[in-house]
Amino acid sequence: MKVGIMGGTFDPLHIGHMLAAESAREAYMLEQVWFMPSHIPPHKHAAGTTGAQRLAMVNSAIAGHPAFRVLDWEVVRGGVSYTIETVRRLQEEYAGIEFYFIIGADMVQYLPKWRDIDELVRRLYFIGVGRPGTPLDLDALPQHIARRVLIADMPQLDISSTMLRSRAAAGKSIRYMVPDAVFDYVQRSGCYGVQP
Ligand code: NAP
Repeated sequence: MKVGIMGGTFDPLHIGHMLAAESAREAYMLEQVWFMPSHIPPHKHAAGTTGAQRLAMVNSAIAGHPAFRVLDWEVVRGGVSYTIETVRRLQEEYAGIEFYFIIGADMVQYLPKWRDIDELVRRLYFIGVGRPGTPLDLDALPQHIARRVLIADMPQLDISSTMLRSRAAAGKSIRYMVPDAVFDYVQRSGCYGVQP
């Protein structure tokens, strides 16, 4: 069985994340994609929302997709969410599954800096999906990493969580840039400064 792991801070989850997961699933015939919200991402400040809020957003967004699931492991573990720790546990608990870690183009360039990247690329393949303005340049990576990165095309969407947080804080609409269920959750909970 082939399973994609869609790791992210998802602060908030938006349609670029959903499309990246769906594009990778289709391109590499993944039977499932498991969303894995991080607690504190290794390369950023902690999210402004709680892990429970981000889990709720992801759960609500993926509810209608038969091949999508959510794992709360990184949020429950707490601390900095190093992918290698998650992948070691995944492979221990699901020995028969072949895992693929789905990432955006910005993250592909940053892979050499990931903790224990040499072990990670021995353990799984990455699937890199496009992002406007960031070419997926595998030649810039060390060869042993580049040969473990597969490419999936997706319709280009210039949407980021940072942009959505700024829009929400400025009182601008984020409707249709996030799944409807996430939009409803943000409205109800008042996160990102949205008036409930
Ligand atoms: P994020 O901002 O929530 O985004 C999740 C993923 O979706 C990212 O790979 C991002 O790629 C991609 N994405 C977002 N918007 C997109 C769009 N419009 N089009 C295409 N792709 C888009 O997640 P994150 O905080 O960067 O974290 C990504 C994962 O990498 C997490 O699981 C994190 O723990 C892991 N990570 C691990 C290490 C480590 O172990 N040392 C270091 C860094 C990250 P972009 O990069 O292009 O935004």
